[in-house]
Amino acid sequence: MNYRSLIFCLLSAVFIMSSGCAIESLHADDNDVIESLVIASSSVEEDTPDVVVPTPTPAPQPQEYRASLFMTGDALIHGSIWLDSMTSSGYDFSDKVERIAQVASKYDLRYYNQETIIGGDERGPSGYPQFNTPSQWGDAMYDAGFNLVSTATNHCLDQGASGIENSLRYWAGKEGVVTAGTYLTKEDQEAIVVHEINGITYAFFSWTYGMNGLSAPIDRPYMVNCYAGREQEMLDQVAKADKMCDVVIIAMHWGTEYSMSVNDEQHDLARKLSDAGADIIIGNHPHVIEPMEWINGKTICFYAMGNMISAQSGEENLVAVMAGLDIVKTVTGEVIDVKIENVRADLLWTTYRRISSDLVDNVKVYPFNELTDDILWNHEEIYKKYLAILQSLDDSIAIGGV
Ligand SMILES: [Zn+2]
Repeated sequence: MNYRSLIFCLLSAVFIMSSGCAIESLHADDNDVIESLVIASSSVEEDTPDVVVPTPTPAPQPQEYRASLFMTGDALIHGSIWLDSMTSSGYDFSDKVERIAQVASKYDLRYYNQETIIGGDERGPSGYPQFNTPSQWGDAMYDAGFNLVSTATNHCLDQGASGIENSLRYWAGKEGVVTAGTYLTKEDQEAIVVHEINGITYAFFSWTYGMNGLSAPIDRPYMVNCYAGREQEMLDQVAKADKMCDVVIIAMHWGTEYSMSVNDEQHDLARKLSDAGADIIIGNHPHVIEPMEWINGKTICFYAMGNMISAQSGEENLVAVMAGLDIVKTVTGEVIDVKIENVRADLLWTTYRRISSDLVDNVKVYPFNELTDDILWNHEEIYKKYLAILQSLDDSIAIGGV
């Protein structure tokens, strides 16, 4: 028996004893197999350390949170609109906004701008130029699901400081509604309030360029967020909120009345707001629509959404923007990523019947895709015309699907 045969026999014995495996297939002259068995057996016999297989730390699973936001324009409640809504017991505006309520109902947050103050029913309603809007209008918007309301407008002091007090008392009684722009105390105005929707935190601000020459009481300048002379305060608020919240939404009452172009102030302020941390800028006031665009690739800006409802007479005053988007927050371990996705926009039309030079009735807001030739004979042509304006700065934002 030569050396290799001896080793083979020994190994075979060990192998049979230890494993009981059949070894017929092993041949004495299969040197490679024998040598590898020698190595294997010696390593097993000489060194059998406890093998500790580290338990891999499971990669954190991304967790996603989503919230949707609906946005539209100014509620400019002319006398015709409340006269058209009178009932035996007050006013009922619900039929005027039932179509837009239907669209907005799919969203978590539903924003509009309350241009004309709900300044207290006890002083009676009034129209242009110093408005006072019946509280039943607010009821209709509340019932329609609107829960994000900007109140800093050029008409917010139409009923004086007491009008603002009444308005804030009114909205405070509407559970789930977040307002911004007018305040009862300095503390309220300075506070960065962090709201939450579906696991996403957000701040909501509203600022106006001015109040038609009126001023808040000299000892209560905090009552209205007016950015004239206070621009840095506005930007600082946004920057502070950006550190505290996932998303910063700001409603801007700005622009040139009846101009469908973005003016220099809007252009510059939008960029400053984006740099400060604003994610969503919703512009209002000019009574007409203006374009939308992405700024710095991260801030969506609607420069002017137009009159959501009014009794103004020009075609351009009856077109408004409605828009939707999704806020998507992804948390992976310690890393939080927030994106604005799926931005889309479409147009609204306020229809009415003219009774006289200053009176209309049958006022109602429709999405353009619900218009028929009976309601507006040239609606297709008008739709195309205003879409072109909306998309004139940035045609990457989807039209439709709101
Ligand atoms: Zn305005």
